[in-house]
Amino acid sequence: MNSSIDGGETLVKEIIELMKQGKSDVTLIVAPPFTHLERVSKRVAASGASIAVAAQNCAHKEWGAYTGEVSAKMLKELSCQYVIIGHSERREYFGEGSDLLLMKCKEALAAEMKPIFCVGERLQEREQGEEFNYVSKQIREVLFHLSDKEMEQVVVAYEPVWAIGTGKTATAAQAQEMHSHIRGVIAEKFGERAKSISILYGGSCNPTNAKELFSQESVDGGLIGGASLKSDQFIAIANSF
Ligand code: PEP
Repeated sequence: MNSSIDGGETLVKEIIELMKQGKSDVTLIVAPPFTHLERVSKRVAASGASIAVAAQNCAHKEWGAYTGEVSAKMLKELSCQYVIIGHSERREYFGEGSDLLLMKCKEALAAEMKPIFCVGERLQEREQGEEFNYVSKQIREVLFHLSDKEMEQVVVAYEPVWAIGTGKTATAAQAQEMHSHIRGVIAEKFGERAKSISILYGGSCNPTNAKELFSQESVDGGLIGGASLKSDQFIAIANSF
């Protein structure tokens, strides 16, 4: 919930410009707030840049009397190709649990959008040595209810809650260990398909630590929060991949 609509459009304009000077083989996705989506989508389309647009949330139903909600189908009309589902802030501040998140994933998939499904332990789980069990449960309760075909559309983001917006980053070794664990859990249900699922790391990723994080075998990219609000930092992170 950052920036005005004009500010969001300026940011994406800068990202498009900087992207032209950077690497071309990185998949870039921007995920502005709902109110910014139309302008940002149009700006991206007009530029011809290969940037995809994501929403930060979607409703658990297709349409109807759900005041205040925005459905995946509506987001698709704004050219969104992805939608973030289960961000820790949605789980913590809005009480979103696995049953609801599964419905949201199904809605996104039905609207032909790719869910970016977020998982991650809180500090308390890490301190209790429960982080692997906690993340496994988040995956099993939602992603295990998808078909093989649906799962092929999913991107997973590992975001340790203690690292989001705190300036504390998981070490590259911690990220690698958890990403490899996540792939293993996905493989329990989806077998070989797990190998081609993208697993992104999120949590205080910045231009200084991105290279080391992204160099880990099981880290396929990043979900960038604070640093994405500055175009030069966002592109510097993308270029460190
Ligand atoms: C986020 O908001 O999902 C996030 C990863 O934020 P930050 O990069 O600021 O930690």
